[in-house]
Amino acid sequence: MKHELMKLSYAFDALEPFIDRQTMETHHSKHHQAYVNKLNTALEGKEILQKKTLEELISDLDSVPVEIRTAVRNNGGGVINHNFFWPMLKKEVKFEGEISEIIIQSYGSFEKFKEQFSDAALTLFGSGWVWLVLDKGELKIIQTYNQDSPLTSGKIPLLTLDVWEHAYYLKYKNKRADYIEAFFNVINWKQVNRHYLAAKK
Ligand code: MN
Repeated sequence: MKHELMKLSYAFDALEPFIDRQTMETHHSKHHQAYVNKLNTALEGKEILQKKTLEELISDLDSVPVEIRTAVRNNGGGVINHNFFWPMLKKEVKFEGEISEIIIQSYGSFEKFKEQFSDAALTLFGSGWVWLVLDKGELKIIQTYNQDSPLTSGKIPLLTLDVWEHAYYLKYKNKRADYIEAFFNVINWKQVNRHYLAAKK
């Protein structure tokens, strides 16, 4: 069974002006698609691995044969991270629900959370992702490099921001800080809350 490109549940211009149409289209139909293709190539002829879900593969990279482990880590990570990212983006969703309560409880205020998350996104050197995760019952802000997933180290993703240049360069050029600020207008807090409720069980 082959992995397929996840369909977007919204139009490429749905997140304008915060994330522009051209970036969304290139990001989804070129970058994300390339990870899907390369993952399928890596898994060719590996029937047992093809039957596993991506989450199973990425959560247990040690079970992947060493000769394709890096390819699965990078491209499988690329697929699962983008699959997580797209549905987590939506305009005009209120910061509310249990997730808002636990964020305020953990960081003192929404502003303090935003400051720490933004700082982690701004200081990540090179390409990677910034995450809010649940780690042994606690909220944590972490960075991962390249396409590494928090699942590999046993953490449960709740929210993420893609800080690869391909995610913002067409519109924001070198101004990563502006992209991070814009991101806070397109967080689908309902989706983040769903992740939290499922994770805390
Ligand atoms: Mn990306």
